[in-house]
Amino acid sequence: MQLLKQIEQNGPRDLGEQIHQFAADLYPICRSITGDGVRRTLTAIQTRIPLKIFEVPTGADVFDWTIPKEWNIRDAYIKNARGERIVDFQRCNLHVLNYSVPVHERMPLRKLRDHLFTIPDRPDWIPYRTSYYRENWGFCLSHNQLKALPDEEYEVCIESALTQGHLSYGECYFPGASDEEVLISCHICHPSLANDNLSGLAVSTYLAQFVAAEQRRYSYRFLFVPGTIGAIAWLRRNCEKVAVIRHGLVLSGIGNDSGFHYKKSRRGNVEIDRAMSVVLRDNGEPHKVLDFSPYGYDERQYCSPGFNLPVGCLMRSVWGTFPEYHTSADNLDFIKPQRLAESLRLCATLVDVLENNRRYRNLLPYCEPQLGKRGLYRSTGGQAIDSEIDALLWVLNLSDGEHSLLDMSATSGQSFATICDAARRLQETGLLADICEEEEERDRDPEAVTSNPIDFTPRLSH
Ligand SMILES: [Zn+2]
Repeated sequence: MQLLKQIEQNGPRDLGEQIHQFAADLYPICRSITGDGVRRTLTAIQTRIPLKIFEVPTGADVFDWTIPKEWNIRDAYIKNARGERIVDFQRCNLHVLNYSVPVHERMPLRKLRDHLFTIPDRPDWIPYRTSYYRENWGFCLSHNQLKALPDEEYEVCIESALTQGHLSYGECYFPGASDEEVLISCHICHPSLANDNLSGLAVSTYLAQFVAAEQRRYSYRFLFVPGTIGAIAWLRRNCEKVAVIRHGLVLSGIGNDSGFHYKKSRRGNVEIDRAMSVVLRDNGEPHKVLDFSPYGYDERQYCSPGFNLPVGCLMRSVWGTFPEYHTSADNLDFIKPQRLAESLRLCATLVDVLENNRRYRNLLPYCEPQLGKRGLYRSTGGQAIDSEIDALLWVLNLSDGEHSLLDMSATSGQSFATICDAARRLQETGLLADICEEEEERDRDPEAVTSNPIDFTPRLSH
């Protein structure tokens, strides 16, 4: 698979604009961990990729958790003494404490204040607050608006419903030559927040579209789940099948201007960790690789000790560390088409590395083979060794069956693409054998082993 090449050649020219538009279409929906907002979001994704939607009933036990009642909301407001809507859910869904129980009362400001949330440090922004597991109601508003509220009586109304229902999540599976899987997971439970949830789910959807059109070595599973409880529910229902997950990535917060951050899996040195380090290095933009920590997005669940799956997390800004996090400032202006497109390309490059990472055997391992007579060496000697020859020498030297192309790229400092290209040329000239192909051939026809080129290498006597 050459996913990046396919995206560059066949992807729409304004890919970033399209991903941004998809996020913009989903932005107004009031999502939560359950309810119709999640369903509408999944249905929108389903128009683009073959997504299966699953429903887990309220009350179902999922490991130590229980699926909560389903939450839906129609309207909410605070009216002043003149009957004017001064806080209006219809204008911004962040105004309501997510999962608020219904309420319709009149009360003085003194009492209302207990149910109002603001960010004093960012007085113009509306915070995003939730109360999933403790029944409460509330409104979020800018601190400046709160300060300006006159001391009078207010009418508060939240037309919400908490009922026996379901938690919804979506799953999209593309089988490959192998049953071993690459898992891509993102959360879909935040209302009008662009970087935190929409950037990840929009890029994931586009990545799935491109993966769908390719010949695949691995099978691919894309998950669109409500954060924490959705991932836990998925793991509970699939715990017998997770052993096939060979590589996994959580995508979140990948639309803003920050450089990339990759948080390693709990195991810390699995192939996806090494692949992402090389991909970020080759990408050339400023980035940081972070060690695993038990807080963050759904990698917390995938990397809980019972599962300990090889799942990392790709972000631009790290959760909780940027001022716009969980506020109305994480809006459609905060995510940029160009950044979304770059994130998609980075994910595609990662997929290419995973798909093409192989081990080879050097068929002439006694001293260096003469590259010149095979047309692999420049005819006139130069001073500095060029990167093409450097890559050929690294591949030959490390093709001992132990090292993968990824190892060679990491050790040599040569880009994965350069190493891959060197391996292809060496294989074409008969200097390398693909270990997987050798093994497959041996499985098919044990007799064929005798005609394996490796048997023509001179045997040294000691
Ligand atoms: Zn969040």
